[in-house]
Amino acid sequence: MKSVIKTLSEKLRSGQITSVELTEKYIEAIKRVNPVINAYVHETFEEARRDAEYADRLIKEGKGTPLTGIPFTLKDNIATDGELTTCCSKILEGFRPYYDATVWKKLKEQGAVLLGKTNMDEFAMGSTSETSVYGAPLNPRNTARVTGGSSGGVAAAVCADIAAYGLGSDTGGSIRQPASFCGIVGFKPTYGAVSRYGLIAYGSSLDQIGPMTHSVTDAALVYDAIKGEDCADQTSAPVHMGPTALNGDVRGIKIGVAKEFFDGINPQIKGAIDAAIEQYKNAGAEVVEVSIPALKLALPVYYIIACAEASSNLGRYDGIRYGYRAANYSSVDDMITKTRTEGFGREVKKRIMLGTYVLSSGYFDAYYKKACLIRKRVESQLAECFEKCDVLFAPTAPVTAFPLGYSGGNALETYLSDVCTVPVNIAGLPAIALPCGKDKDGLPIGMQIIGKKFDDERVLDIAYFAEKSKLCELEDVEGGVRL
Ligand code: GLN
Repeated sequence: MKSVIKTLSEKLRSGQITSVELTEKYIEAIKRVNPVINAYVHETFEEARRDAEYADRLIKEGKGTPLTGIPFTLKDNIATDGELTTCCSKILEGFRPYYDATVWKKLKEQGAVLLGKTNMDEFAMGSTSETSVYGAPLNPRNTARVTGGSSGGVAAAVCADIAAYGLGSDTGGSIRQPASFCGIVGFKPTYGAVSRYGLIAYGSSLDQIGPMTHSVTDAALVYDAIKGEDCADQTSAPVHMGPTALNGDVRGIKIGVAKEFFDGINPQIKGAIDAAIEQYKNAGAEVVEVSIPALKLALPVYYIIACAEASSNLGRYDGIRYGYRAANYSSVDDMITKTRTEGFGREVKKRIMLGTYVLSSGYFDAYYKKACLIRKRVESQLAECFEKCDVLFAPTAPVTAFPLGYSGGNALETYLSDVCTVPVNIAGLPAIALPCGKDKDGLPIGMQIIGKKFDDERVLDIAYFAEKSKLCELEDVEGGVRL
């Protein structure tokens, strides 16, 4: 794994390159590479040039932090004052918020350089990024494959080196699954460890912003820069505010392996994870078998809760307050109906209808209430596991990157492929996805390290062993910025 942020930060601080020069290199690479992979949907080059000048001043004055001057990208559902934020939906066409998300505000203050907003499934609903109104981004490792989703644009931009890192959002796996399809690192922090203020809501009790990077070192640096309680997000919580210490010493740690995570997994993925666990064992880790009988229920529970919350969250798009409005209408009701009919895509409409159905009187008890009860059961079974082990190792997804177009005809199979990631959101846990090998087609395989609530730094440290011991080194993709 290459530590892009660390390397660039050293170059900037030693004066080998300025942020303005570095930013121009990234802009030039985006212009060359993006027409092929469609990672960026809104470029913010003027903003980037201003940010870079500010960063160079900070560095000169000795006020730089590890992220100062480094060009990065935000998923298109993170609010940026004055810059397009559309969730890759027609209904938010032309929408420019008048405030910054807390994460962007924090990064901006530290002199981070925003190159643009990246592609995603419409309103973060999907696992391939193909529901974007701008068309799908392509997987830089194999352009006949999807990037995964919903933060597929961030994954593609980082993988292709047209952003040094990015921030994605994860409601049911949208940071971790595209990270693993593209062979990068994706970290979903504990629910509440990073402010959600300014993240356009999908499933508010599940959504979490987190870093997508080339290495665990980089993920820790970005996490440190964005974490912390925020008075603008009442679900945010206090966390340790110093830098995350990475030693990668795994002697004596207990790795939990739950067989339920491996049911129906592609054998090549299981093999790669077994081999990784073996390396941890050789370095002194202990493996304990644990069981999570309710794990399979996490998937239907997730789709009920996520759709229920989405149906309520997306009620605000009425053609009055944001973005798109239908051209011809006879009354306010007609305007709202036409705006929503024309503005939302198929998948989003499907989920709004499903969510409205499970919340409607008569079905509320049978679906939504039951899902909330089972959510508690999944949560408590996971908590019981953590009485026996420090972290859980699991696949990120039961498959590697789908061929483009595949999910169109196999929607159910695509939902099923979220089986390993959604339990983590249901229980609000931290989890990191990192590459651990390749399948017979040369596509990256991802594994997950899941921790207990607010054990984010521990999860990063345990993952750092994989980086330190070079557990899996994937080759660079041609075309992007070379350090
Ligand atoms: N694939 C899941 C879904 O479609 C997860 C999406 C996400 O994490 N935003 O809902």
